[in-house]
Amino acid sequence: LTTPVSLLGLGAMGTALARAWLAAGHPLTVWNRTPARAEALVAEGAKAADGAAGAVAASDLVVVCLLDDDSVGTALDGVDLAGKDLVNLTTTTPEQARARAAWAEERGARYLDGGIMAVPPMVGVPEAGGFVFYSGSPEVFEARREVLAVPVGTRYVGEDPGFAALHDIALLSAMYGMFAGVAHAFALIRREDIDPVAFAPLLGEWIPAMAGPAVRQTAERLKSGDLTTGVVSNLAMQVAGTPTFLAAAEGQGVSTELLRPYFDLMRRRLDIGSGEEDLTGVVDLLLR
Ligand code: NDP
Repeated sequence: LTTPVSLLGLGAMGTALARAWLAAGHPLTVWNRTPARAEALVAEGAKAADGAAGAVAASDLVVVCLLDDDSVGTALDGVDLAGKDLVNLTTTTPEQARARAAWAEERGARYLDGGIMAVPPMVGVPEAGGFVFYSGSPEVFEARREVLAVPVGTRYVGEDPGFAALHDIALLSAMYGMFAGVAHAFALIRREDIDPVAFAPLLGEWIPAMAGPAVRQTAERLKSGDLTTGVVSNLAMQVAGTPTFLAAAEGQGVSTELLRPYFDLMRRRLDIGSGEEDLTGVVDLLLR
Protein backbone atom coordinates (compact mmCIF):
# COMPACT_ATOMS: atom_id res chain seq x y z
CA LEU A 1 0.00 0.00 0.00
CA THR A 2 1.43 3.40 -0.87
CA THR A 3 0.75 6.69 0.91
CA PRO A 4 1.12 10.12 -0.69
CA VAL A 5 3.71 12.18 1.19
CA SER A 6 4.54 15.85 0.89
CA LEU A 7 8.02 16.76 2.02
CA LEU A 8 9.16 20.32 2.69
CA GLY A 9 12.91 20.77 2.92
CA LEU A 10 15.47 19.14 0.63
CA GLY A 11 18.68 19.69 2.54
CA ALA A 12 21.01 16.77 3.16
CA MET A 13 18.47 15.07 5.43
CA GLY A 14 15.32 15.91 3.46
CA THR A 15 16.90 14.61 0.26
CA ALA A 16 17.82 11.32 1.94
CA LEU A 17 14.25 10.95 3.29
CA ALA A 18 12.83 11.74 -0.16
CA ARG A 19 14.94 9.03 -1.84
CA ALA A 20 13.81 6.42 0.71
CA TRP A 21 10.11 7.19 0.09
CA LEU A 22 10.61 7.23 -3.68
CA ALA A 23 12.48 3.91 -3.57
CA ALA A 24 9.56 2.39 -1.65
CA GLY A 25 7.11 3.64 -4.28
CA HIS A 26 5.28 6.28 -2.21
CA PRO A 27 3.92 9.19 -4.31
CA LEU A 28 6.07 12.12 -3.23
CA THR A 29 5.55 15.84 -3.62
CA VAL A 30 8.51 18.00 -2.64
CA TRP A 31 9.19 21.66 -2.03
CA ASN A 32 12.40 23.46 -1.24
CA ARG A 33 13.07 27.18 -0.83
CA THR A 34 15.82 26.88 -3.44
CA PRO A 35 13.97 25.05 -6.23
CA ALA A 36 17.11 23.64 -7.93
CA ARG A 37 17.51 21.13 -5.12
CA ALA A 38 14.31 19.39 -6.25
CA GLU A 39 15.53 18.72 -9.80
CA ALA A 40 17.35 15.43 -9.20
CA LEU A 41 14.40 14.09 -7.19
CA VAL A 42 11.95 15.00 -9.94
CA ALA A 43 14.09 12.96 -12.33
CA GLU A 44 13.71 10.09 -9.84
CA GLY A 45 9.91 10.36 -9.78
CA ALA A 46 9.00 13.11 -7.28
CA LYS A 47 6.59 15.91 -8.13
CA ALA A 48 7.88 19.42 -7.39
CA ALA A 49 5.34 21.89 -5.99
CA ASP A 50 5.63 25.57 -6.89
CA GLY A 51 5.36 26.71 -3.30
CA ALA A 52 5.03 25.41 0.24
CA ALA A 53 1.24 25.86 0.05
CA GLY A 54 1.05 23.70 -3.07
CA ALA A 55 3.15 21.00 -1.47
CA VAL A 56 0.96 20.97 1.65
CA ALA A 57 -2.20 20.81 -0.47
CA ALA A 58 -0.91 17.76 -2.39
CA SER A 59 -1.02 15.19 0.47
CA ASP A 60 -2.75 14.64 3.80
CA LEU A 61 0.62 13.66 5.29
CA VAL A 62 3.03 16.60 5.36
CA VAL A 63 6.59 16.05 6.55
CA VAL A 64 8.79 19.06 7.28
CA CYS A 65 12.58 18.82 7.58
CA LEU A 66 14.00 22.34 7.59
CA LEU A 67 16.97 23.97 9.25
CA ASP A 68 15.35 25.15 12.48
CA ASP A 69 12.05 26.17 14.04
CA ASP A 70 12.20 29.68 12.54
CA SER A 71 12.44 28.25 9.03
CA VAL A 72 9.36 26.09 9.71
CA GLY A 73 7.41 29.19 10.78
CA THR A 74 8.61 31.09 7.71
CA ALA A 75 7.91 28.28 5.23
CA LEU A 76 4.42 27.53 6.58
CA ASP A 77 3.37 31.12 7.24
CA GLY A 78 -0.16 31.59 5.88
CA VAL A 79 -0.36 28.03 4.51
CA ASP A 80 -3.69 26.20 5.00
CA LEU A 81 -2.97 23.25 7.31
CA ALA A 82 -6.58 22.29 8.04
CA GLY A 83 -7.09 18.53 8.07
CA LYS A 84 -3.39 17.76 7.59
CA ASP A 85 -1.15 15.43 9.56
CA LEU A 86 1.93 17.57 10.11
CA VAL A 87 5.11 15.66 11.01
CA ASN A 88 7.96 17.99 11.92
CA LEU A 89 11.40 16.37 11.76
CA THR A 90 13.25 19.67 12.17
CA THR A 91 15.58 19.74 15.18
CA THR A 92 14.18 22.11 17.82
CA THR A 93 14.08 22.57 21.57
CA PRO A 94 11.29 20.83 23.49
CA GLU A 95 9.68 24.24 24.12
CA GLN A 96 9.71 25.09 20.43
CA ALA A 97 8.14 21.71 19.62
CA ARG A 98 5.33 22.31 22.15
CA ALA A 99 4.68 25.77 20.77
CA ARG A 100 4.75 24.47 17.20
CA ALA A 101 2.24 21.73 18.14
CA ALA A 102 -0.16 24.30 19.59
CA TRP A 103 0.37 26.51 16.51
CA ALA A 104 -0.41 23.58 14.15
CA GLU A 105 -3.48 22.52 16.14
CA GLU A 106 -4.84 26.09 16.07
CA ARG A 107 -4.63 25.79 12.28
CA GLY A 108 -6.59 22.55 12.24
CA ALA A 109 -3.73 20.08 11.82
CA ARG A 110 -2.81 17.03 13.88
CA TYR A 111 0.83 17.30 14.98
CA LEU A 112 3.64 14.81 15.47
CA ASP A 113 7.16 15.95 16.30
CA GLY A 114 10.29 13.98 15.48
CA GLY A 115 13.94 13.98 16.49
CA ILE A 116 16.15 12.24 13.96
CA MET A 117 18.80 9.95 15.45
CA ALA A 118 20.61 9.27 12.20
CA VAL A 119 22.83 10.99 9.67
CA PRO A 120 21.80 11.05 5.99
CA PRO A 121 23.85 7.98 4.92
CA MET A 122 21.94 5.90 7.49
CA VAL A 123 18.57 6.81 5.96
CA GLY A 124 17.07 4.00 3.89
CA VAL A 125 19.62 1.55 5.33
CA PRO A 126 17.76 -0.41 8.05
CA GLU A 127 20.87 -2.27 9.23
CA ALA A 128 22.52 1.10 10.04
CA GLY A 129 20.25 1.33 13.10
CA GLY A 130 19.08 4.92 12.67
CA PHE A 131 15.70 5.91 14.06
CA VAL A 132 13.46 8.86 14.79
CA PHE A 133 12.00 9.69 18.20
CA TYR A 134 8.36 10.69 17.78
CA SER A 135 6.05 12.45 20.21
CA GLY A 136 2.74 14.26 20.00
CA SER A 137 -0.49 12.96 18.50
CA PRO A 138 -0.76 9.20 19.14
CA GLU A 139 -3.41 9.04 16.41
CA VAL A 140 -1.02 10.41 13.80
CA PHE A 141 1.71 8.04 14.93
CA GLU A 142 -0.60 5.02 14.71
CA ALA A 143 -2.07 6.03 11.37
CA ARG A 144 1.28 6.94 9.78
CA ARG A 145 3.80 4.65 11.43
CA GLU A 146 4.30 2.36 8.42
CA VAL A 147 5.13 5.12 5.99
CA LEU A 148 7.21 6.94 8.62
CA ALA A 149 9.20 3.73 9.20
CA VAL A 150 10.31 3.59 5.55
CA PRO A 151 13.39 5.88 5.84
CA VAL A 152 14.48 4.91 9.40
CA GLY A 153 13.03 3.14 12.44
CA THR A 154 10.46 4.81 14.70
CA ARG A 155 10.26 5.17 18.50
CA TYR A 156 7.24 6.87 20.01
CA VAL A 157 8.07 8.48 23.36
CA GLY A 158 4.81 10.08 24.46
CA GLU A 159 1.97 12.50 23.84
CA ASP A 160 3.90 15.55 25.04
CA PRO A 161 5.06 17.01 21.73
CA GLY A 162 8.30 18.17 23.39
CA PHE A 163 9.42 14.67 24.36
CA ALA A 164 10.91 13.67 21.00
CA ALA A 165 13.13 16.77 21.02
CA LEU A 166 13.95 16.15 24.69
CA HIS A 167 15.06 12.57 24.05
CA ASP A 168 17.02 13.68 20.98
CA ILE A 169 18.83 16.45 22.89
CA ALA A 170 19.46 14.18 25.91
CA LEU A 171 21.17 11.52 23.80
CA LEU A 172 23.18 14.04 21.82
CA SER A 173 24.21 15.92 24.96
CA ALA A 174 25.59 12.67 26.41
CA MET A 175 27.39 12.17 23.12
CA TYR A 176 29.09 15.57 23.44
CA GLY A 177 30.20 14.69 26.97
CA MET A 178 31.71 11.52 25.51
CA PHE A 179 33.39 13.49 22.70
CA ALA A 180 34.89 15.76 25.38
CA GLY A 181 36.39 12.71 27.09
CA VAL A 182 37.71 11.38 23.79
CA ALA A 183 39.35 14.73 22.99
CA HIS A 184 41.02 14.84 26.42
CA ALA A 185 42.27 11.25 26.14
CA PHE A 186 43.87 11.88 22.74
CA ALA A 187 45.37 15.15 23.99
CA LEU A 188 47.06 13.22 26.82
CA ILE A 189 48.90 10.91 24.41
CA ARG A 190 49.38 13.51 21.68
CA ARG A 191 52.96 14.53 22.37
CA GLU A 192 54.22 11.02 23.08
CA ASP A 193 55.45 8.35 20.73
CA ILE A 194 52.09 6.58 20.88
CA ASP A 195 50.30 5.75 17.65
CA PRO A 196 46.77 7.20 17.95
CA VAL A 197 45.48 4.47 15.65
CA ALA A 198 46.91 1.78 17.93
CA PHE A 199 45.47 3.60 20.98
CA ALA A 200 42.00 3.94 19.42
CA PRO A 201 40.69 0.39 20.02
CA LEU A 202 41.71 0.61 23.70
CA LEU A 203 39.59 3.75 24.10
CA GLY A 204 36.86 2.54 21.77
CA GLU A 205 36.31 -0.60 23.84
CA TRP A 206 36.68 1.10 27.22
CA ILE A 207 33.92 3.68 26.64
CA PRO A 208 31.03 1.23 26.04
CA ALA A 209 32.35 -1.10 28.78
CA MET A 210 32.01 1.78 31.27
CA ALA A 211 28.97 3.50 29.78
CA GLY A 212 26.61 0.51 29.75
CA PRO A 213 26.74 -0.24 33.50
CA ALA A 214 27.00 3.46 34.45
CA VAL A 215 23.85 4.36 32.52
CA ARG A 216 21.90 1.44 33.96
CA GLN A 217 23.04 2.00 37.55
CA THR A 218 22.42 5.75 37.43
CA ALA A 219 18.87 5.11 36.23
CA GLU A 220 18.18 2.51 38.92
CA ARG A 221 19.56 4.75 41.68
CA LEU A 222 17.61 7.79 40.49
CA LYS A 223 14.46 5.67 40.60
CA SER A 224 15.09 4.04 43.99
CA GLY A 225 16.77 7.02 45.67
CA ASP A 226 19.37 4.61 47.08
CA LEU A 227 22.78 6.01 46.11
CA THR A 228 24.95 3.76 48.28
CA THR A 229 23.97 0.06 48.17
CA GLY A 230 26.42 -2.06 46.21
CA VAL A 231 28.67 0.86 45.19
CA VAL A 232 31.97 -0.43 43.81
CA SER A 233 33.91 2.82 43.23
CA ASN A 234 32.69 5.24 45.84
CA LEU A 235 32.57 9.02 45.59
CA ALA A 236 35.14 9.64 48.35
CA MET A 237 37.71 7.46 46.58
CA GLN A 238 36.96 9.05 43.20
CA VAL A 239 37.20 12.61 44.51
CA ALA A 240 40.48 11.70 46.21
CA GLY A 241 41.74 10.58 42.82
CA THR A 242 40.89 13.75 40.93
CA PRO A 243 44.16 15.60 41.75
CA THR A 244 46.02 12.75 40.07
CA PHE A 245 44.06 13.26 36.86
CA LEU A 246 44.60 17.03 36.96
CA ALA A 247 48.33 16.67 37.73
CA ALA A 248 48.74 14.07 34.97
CA ALA A 249 47.13 16.44 32.48
CA GLU A 250 49.35 19.33 33.61
CA GLY A 251 52.37 17.02 33.34
CA GLN A 252 51.49 16.21 29.74
CA GLY A 253 50.96 19.89 28.97
CA VAL A 254 47.23 19.36 28.53
CA SER A 255 44.52 21.80 29.62
CA THR A 256 42.21 20.57 32.36
CA GLU A 257 39.28 22.69 31.12
CA LEU A 258 37.20 19.70 30.03
CA LEU A 259 37.77 17.67 33.20
CA ARG A 260 37.41 20.35 35.85
CA PRO A 261 33.69 21.12 35.61
CA TYR A 262 32.77 17.50 36.24
CA PHE A 263 35.35 17.11 39.01
CA ASP A 264 33.97 20.28 40.66
CA LEU A 265 30.48 18.73 40.65
CA MET A 266 31.81 15.49 42.18
CA ARG A 267 33.45 17.54 44.96
CA ARG A 268 30.26 19.56 45.59
CA ARG A 269 28.24 16.36 45.87
CA LEU A 270 30.76 14.89 48.31
CA ASP A 271 30.45 18.05 50.43
CA ILE A 272 26.69 17.65 50.81
CA GLY A 273 26.26 13.90 50.33
CA SER A 274 28.06 10.79 51.48
CA GLY A 275 31.43 9.37 50.44
CA GLU A 276 29.74 5.98 50.14
CA GLU A 277 27.62 7.09 47.18
CA ASP A 278 28.44 6.57 43.53
CA LEU A 279 28.32 9.47 41.04
CA THR A 280 24.52 9.58 40.66
CA GLY A 281 24.18 12.53 43.07
CA VAL A 282 25.73 14.80 40.44
CA VAL A 283 22.52 14.54 38.37
CA ASP A 284 20.35 16.51 40.77
CA LEU A 285 23.10 19.08 41.36
CA LEU A 286 22.51 20.12 37.75
CA LEU A 287 18.83 20.94 38.39
CA ARG A 288 18.37 24.67 38.83
P1 NDP B 1 20.65 21.45 5.49
O1 NDP B 1 21.40 22.61 5.99
O2 NDP B 1 21.29 20.52 4.50
O3 NDP B 1 19.27 21.95 4.83
C1 NDP B 1 18.50 22.96 5.45
C2 NDP B 1 17.16 23.02 4.76
O4 NDP B 1 16.39 24.04 5.38
C3 NDP B 1 17.24 23.37 3.28
O5 NDP B 1 16.19 22.72 2.62
C4 NDP B 1 17.04 24.88 3.32
O6 NDP B 1 16.56 25.40 2.11
C5 NDP B 1 15.98 24.97 4.38
N1 NDP B 1 15.84 26.29 4.98
C6 NDP B 1 16.72 26.95 5.77
N2 NDP B 1 16.22 28.13 6.16
C7 NDP B 1 14.99 28.23 5.58
C8 NDP B 1 13.98 29.22 5.60
N3 NDP B 1 14.12 30.36 6.30
N4 NDP B 1 12.84 28.99 4.91
C9 NDP B 1 12.68 27.85 4.21
N5 NDP B 1 13.61 26.87 4.15
C10 NDP B 1 14.74 27.07 4.83
O7 NDP B 1 20.14 20.66 6.78
P2 NDP B 1 19.78 19.11 6.92
O8 NDP B 1 18.91 18.69 5.80
O9 NDP B 1 21.00 18.35 7.20
O10 NDP B 1 18.96 19.16 8.28
C11 NDP B 1 17.56 19.42 8.31
C12 NDP B 1 17.09 19.15 9.73
O11 NDP B 1 17.41 17.80 10.06
C13 NDP B 1 17.78 20.05 10.75
O12 NDP B 1 16.86 20.45 11.74
C14 NDP B 1 18.83 19.12 11.34
O13 NDP B 1 19.15 19.46 12.68
C15 NDP B 1 18.12 17.78 11.26
N6 NDP B 1 19.07 16.66 11.32
C16 NDP B 1 20.11 16.62 10.42
C17 NDP B 1 21.06 15.62 10.54
C18 NDP B 1 22.23 15.55 9.60
O14 NDP B 1 23.18 14.82 9.91
N7 NDP B 1 22.21 16.24 8.47
C19 NDP B 1 20.99 14.59 11.59
C20 NDP B 1 19.80 14.70 12.43
C21 NDP B 1 18.92 15.72 12.30
P3 NDP B 1 17.58 25.94 0.96
O15 NDP B 1 18.00 24.73 0.17
O16 NDP B 1 16.76 26.89 0.18
O17 NDP B 1 18.73 26.59 1.69
